Amino acid sequence: MANYILAKQNGRNIPLEDKAFGASNRAKKMIAEQGKDKVINATIGSLLNDEGELVVLESVAEVVKTLKPVQYADYAPIGGVVTFKEAVKKAAFGSFQPKTYVEAMATPGGTGALHNTMINYSAVGDKILTTDWHWAPYNTIAGEIGRSVETFEMFDGEGKFNVAGFAAKVKELVAAQGSLVIILNTPAHNPTGYSLTDADWDGVMDAIKAEAANADSIVLLVDVAYIDFAGDEEEHRKFLPKLEDVPANVLPVIGYSLSKTFTLYGTRCGAAICLAQTEEIAAEFKRVNEFSSRAAWSNAARISQQILTEIYADEELLAKVSAERAIYRDMLINRGRAFEEEAKKVDLEIVPFDAGFFVSIPCENSDDIAKKLEAEGLFIIPLKKGLRVSVASISEAACRKIPAMIKKYM
Ligand code: PLP
Repeated sequence: MANYILAKQNGRNIPLEDKAFGASNRAKKMIAEQGKDKVINATIGSLLNDEGELVVLESVAEVVKTLKPVQYADYAPIGGVVTFKEAVKKAAFGSFQPKTYVEAMATPGGTGALHNTMINYSAVGDKILTTDWHWAPYNTIAGEIGRSVETFEMFDGEGKFNVAGFAAKVKELVAAQGSLVIILNTPAHNPTGYSLTDADWDGVMDAIKAEAANADSIVLLVDVAYIDFAGDEEEHRKFLPKLEDVPANVLPVIGYSLSKTFTLYGTRCGAAICLAQTEEIAAEFKRVNEFSSRAAWSNAARISQQILTEIYADEELLAKVSAERAIYRDMLINRGRAFEEEAKKVDLEIVPFDAGFFVSIPCENSDDIAKKLEAEGLFIIPLKKGLRVSVASISEAACRKIPAMIKKYM
């Protein structure tokens, strides 16, 4: 392979440059050369304020200052700090009280939960099922461990979540592999901003239950990285009870992340939380996850486990964090609505959008269009199926400008 000098490819597809970071670097270069007012950098997957600075919840930052050195400097247990495990269940579930056997494992971000679930519940060579529009690192994580990603079309011809397409792929992969790991990123899906509706969820669970009798195991990883930026926190957790009514060989796992919800991206903290039908399956989940963690990163960082512990030990503090987050969530939702409104005005088709960090525009020649827009100072990410605009990283005013700019090149 021409691309490798000493490194081994090992079946992986390793690009020379990450598309998102490449575009962001070009945006930064243009800002340095031509000034901030000439550039819209809508490539970044973190929440920025209207001035382009990272939003950090002050109430969370305050907690950091109260920590004693041993609370962050010591190793955490491999599976996570005990008080964190309790806190993160509350953070993920809200008022939902599961009846199933629940185990929470600390991971470095939601990424760690994805890695551990894929490696433990699929076999080498297996295909992991997700939507055709999806976060690209799913492929990276799967590829690194000898798995690959198979997709179904996320939307049908009427722009509805494609339950029939999902069911057909579940059936096909269960027949071929015996076991299956499914990843669904909802609510506020990256990159479309779609949230599964109640009816979508019923369709998904019916399809899984229908195939369970033919399968050794079906693991449904619900990637909820954006759950607290989708809108009402309880409303967007209403799907959780549906995960409990399944046969024992179906294991729902919540991939939770503190990156967005607590603006703790760089402290690398998240959790894999299972809802198992038997105590034995939950115990196995703990055992295999601890083993994988030990092999990949040993223990996860302690600091945000301690931060979450502190937040959930103090009702007043928790209320403060939630109230502060709600302000930024409203800011984000307003940006998304502004983008939708302007897209409608200029007749720019967007992928069904509910809320979240990103909006997507379906098109075929995304690389070409993105290149032309870069020349005009608009930086967005070209994907296989279209263009991704991060409304999280730009002002509402910029959200209003972009649809017409894109429409010009469609
Ligand atoms: N899932 C999706 C869809 C994401 O977009 C991200 C981050 O951008 C993650 C999971 C995990 O993020 P982290 O590992 O930073 O918690």
